[in-house]
Amino acid sequence: MEPLKQILNKTQFTKDDLIFLLNTSDKERLGLFEHARDVKASIVGKKVYFRGLIEYSNFCKKNCFYCGIRAGNSRYVRYRMTDVEVIQCVDYAWKNEYASVVIQSGEQTNKAFVNKIESLLKRIHRHTQGDIHVTLSLGEQSEETYRRWFEAGAQRYLLRIEVSNPELYKKLHPDNREHDYQRRVESLATLKKLDYQVGTGVMIGLPFQTISDLADDLIFFRENDIDMAGMGPYIEHADTPLYKFRDTLLPLKSRFDLALKMVAILRIMMKNINIAATTAMQTIDPQGREKALMVGANVIMPNLTPVKYRQDYLLYENKPCLDEEAEECKSCLEARIHMAGDTIGYGEWGDSQHYQRRRQDDA
Ligand code: SAM
Ligand code: SF4
Repeated sequence: MEPLKQILNKTQFTKDDLIFLLNTSDKERLGLFEHARDVKASIVGKKVYFRGLIEYSNFCKKNCFYCGIRAGNSRYVRYRMTDVEVIQCVDYAWKNEYASVVIQSGEQTNKAFVNKIESLLKRIHRHTQGDIHVTLSLGEQSEETYRRWFEAGAQRYLLRIEVSNPELYKKLHPDNREHDYQRRVESLATLKKLDYQVGTGVMIGLPFQTISDLADDLIFFRENDIDMAGMGPYIEHADTPLYKFRDTLLPLKSRFDLALKMVAILRIMMKNINIAATTAMQTIDPQGREKALMVGANVIMPNLTPVKYRQDYLLYENKPCLDEEAEECKSCLEARIHMAGDTIGYGEWGDSQHYQRRRQDDA
């Protein structure tokens, strides 16, 4: 049997298998994509769930070396959305049957921020009579804060591990307690203990990152039994310390291709999790998210952030749809998703099947 088929027939991939799959090209690469597409269709179905993305604030106390909104970058005007603006976004999602929103922000841990998120969660819950599910992506917080937000109505949490290699993590972050790999791993465990649907993910094509690192990332997801994943290519930003390594990077197209393979392999490895087709994929290729849907992704996060804030939430260069209101975003997305052969799960929460199974097994 051909090596690709032999590997795809296995119930569990070894690290060598993963490296083989990540290195596939031409016919084999297409074979991998086809297999992932079939796994998606037979397990989670050819349906895409929307999560309306609300980029709540670009204040951040951290200084990750890759990120445009890091505390050390003074180029952006710092903003925080008002309660009314947040509720307007939620309303838009609700009326358009998105069923879920994601509240994302730079990392802040002060009392006012924690209280504000708690009160917004309660308000969203009241306003939509519990119809809208909320995913938070607000970085590392104390167990107490995670608990309060869960009790106030958040169901899911996204906290990317960014890279699962602790040595590489050190190279990409300042050397202090605020940017500690172990702490990030512990946060993921805490979120799971508190019963969140837990999502994590990595950036792909970072300086110093190898194919072996990416294979380890996939193993990290499996070992941590995650419910959701959000992965995307790393894209450089001129106002960040990593920018000086731009000449060492893979071309954007190769980073994109690797990201597609990561999505496809993860779909085959963890058949019933939710996998996002991320904005960074769209940044490199206008059809990037649809391509990700065709190889296993089943979640898309249309941006609902008011246009006036988008220029100030630039994590990386060339972020798309900076001037597109939610409505324009929606109609262009719908057409593209149908072209990719999927339907949209309007009005459905689209919770991770993996999470539901995990809870049944625990009961
Ligand atoms: N502050 C929270 C955190 O870091 O978990 C959530 C918001 S943060 C902006 C969301 C994600 O953006 C990060 O987890 C990181 O993977 C991604 N990101 C930041 N800079 C990026 C870049 N230059 N290229 C691609 N993704 C990037
Ligand atoms: Fe802040 Fe998140 Fe960007 Fe790091 S990745 S600088 S925590 S917004």
